[in-house]
Amino acid sequence: MDLNFYANEGSNLSKFVKYNIETINNKKYIVADSSTKKHSSGAPLIDLEEDFSINALVDLLNIGKSAVYEENNLEEQIINFVNTYSTLGLMNDFPINKYFCLDEKIILKDYNFIGNSDCTTILGREDYFKIFFPKCTDKELNKLIEKTIKLAETAAMEKHITSDLNKLLIGSNWYCEPLYMFIQYVKYMYNLLNTIINKEDTVETKYNAFEVNHINMFLTQKEIVNIEIPITSLKQFIDFYFARTVSRDVNLLKICKFCNKAFIANNPKAEYDTPQCKNKANVYKSRAKNR
Ligand SMILES: [Zn+2]
Repeated sequence: MDLNFYANEGSNLSKFVKYNIETINNKKYIVADSSTKKHSSGAPLIDLEEDFSINALVDLLNIGKSAVYEENNLEEQIINFVNTYSTLGLMNDFPINKYFCLDEKIILKDYNFIGNSDCTTILGREDYFKIFFPKCTDKELNKLIEKTIKLAETAAMEKHITSDLNKLLIGSNWYCEPLYMFIQYVKYMYNLLNTIINKEDTVETKYNAFEVNHINMFLTQKEIVNIEIPITSLKQFIDFYFARTVSRDVNLLKICKFCNKAFIANNPKAEYDTPQCKNKANVYKSRAKNR
């Protein structure tokens, strides 16, 4: 028997051309440039070129590095990232039920960024929607919720339901992603990579917090079991490529020993992302020796 693991992003990843950081009720959010216009569902789909996944992963990890080392151009880097790859789509990642719009009370998985602990969190549906649609009036919010319920209740192939729901929610111009959540995620990913590379035998929770929510299993031929991870947000896509990259027999995803940037090494022994970093590190080493 063969197990075949793969991610399927369906028609779920989409992006507007431009995003900004905006303060709403004293909190910072990543918002689409068109967020003041009438609700429009369906940002254009992302073109998943071959190098998209690996570039998105490395760029995200390096924003994590900037956040961990408290560098000052963090927000600029985040906007550049979102303008290139889209928001993380966190609204889809936390609920245990994929069809959370049908629940009056929504249950969020362990390590969701809202409850800030290793436990599940229960939130009323309107309160959960408000986190990601802070600019909506109560009336607009209820209308949006009604639309999603109607859509989820319409009988159709599941892949069509998820992609249509995505267009209404994280693919809509009203969707706002809290900035602190973005920062929390990138920091976590960078620290996790550091832990993996240095084989730190620290807190297991760092690994525990990394989990995939929904997995499908089906047969194509009788010898092959397909394990599909249905992707409904960019975060899930990046999580999948991260896991796949670091779990290879030889992990080429590394952190430069001089500038701390994440990079994909050309050979397994590489310790620096650029020849410049290697040279500078050697200079420091020889100075230290001659002291
Ligand atoms: Zn470097």
